[in-house]
Amino acid sequence: MKKHRQESGVFSNEIFRSKREIQNEFFSYQSLSTQDFYIQTLKNKFLEVFLKNIKESLEMYHEIEHDQSLETIYKEIPSGQCSGCGNCCAESVHIFYSEFLSIYDHLVHLDKLEETLDRVKAFHVQEWSKAQKCIFLDSDNRCEIYPVRPLVCRLFGHKSKKQHNKDYKLIKKRNKQVDKAIFQVHGVHISKEVLKHKIRYCKDFIKDQDMPLGDHNALMDRMYGLEMVYLAEGYIDEGDFDKSLTQWFVDFFLPDLKDPKVRIANLLVEKS
Ligand code: SF4
Ligand code: SF4
Repeated sequence: MKKHRQESGVFSNEIFRSKREIQNEFFSYQSLSTQDFYIQTLKNKFLEVFLKNIKESLEMYHEIEHDQSLETIYKEIPSGQCSGCGNCCAESVHIFYSEFLSIYDHLVHLDKLEETLDRVKAFHVQEWSKAQKCIFLDSDNRCEIYPVRPLVCRLFGHKSKKQHNKDYKLIKKRNKQVDKAIFQVHGVHISKEVLKHKIRYCKDFIKDQDMPLGDHNALMDRMYGLEMVYLAEGYIDEGDFDKSLTQWFVDFFLPDLKDPKVRIANLLVEKS
């Protein structure tokens, strides 16, 4: 983030603390409502900077009509028929900064930011202990942000089985690396449920036409092209290119949750 990017803490040299101490800290986080959390973190100088960044970059997003650019990119995905089973909405998906701005803008207009932050908080603290559905999937398996849903969601049904399995291998490998790093620093493992979580390949999506992998990659490249504007202005940095939907909200609005100990404590609670 602009000039004030904070370390995630996972790889930092922090002093290892007792499991009981971490658990107690977690309970104090849990007892705070999002409103209290928000007030508490408003005192945090980083939050002011982050909110200023959102405000400024959102102004830029509208000025350079990135909402239109996103629509143009999305429209290039061939149509198809989705059964609406919701199976693929089973994680916090990767999104680009321009998509975060689009979703944020949408939620603010609907007055749903506060409610979303409650869901983000619940999801984030359990992210290493439980496999969870996307925070925007409602009880009827519908996407609550359907008009502004991100690129990866729109592409999911268009993936070949081979590509789907290849992506899963990469995710599994990355999860293992994160797990190893957490174990080295904190002495605990991410749950097996999370480490092995696999979203089933979609057989039910009826494609109107096949979409070659080259076309998927070309759309991704164009998304990166939009990101370059925010990168050049210093609103994001390269480290933000691989960020999930909930992580964007945490980084901007709930910085106190960025401490990995919050998620580790939940892991310990689940195990005890
Ligand atoms: S894309 Fe496939 S898995 Fe996802 S909701 Fe549609 S039919 Fe279900
Ligand atoms: S944003 Fe919508 S479409 Fe994408 S995973 Fe979440 S609920 Fe599913």
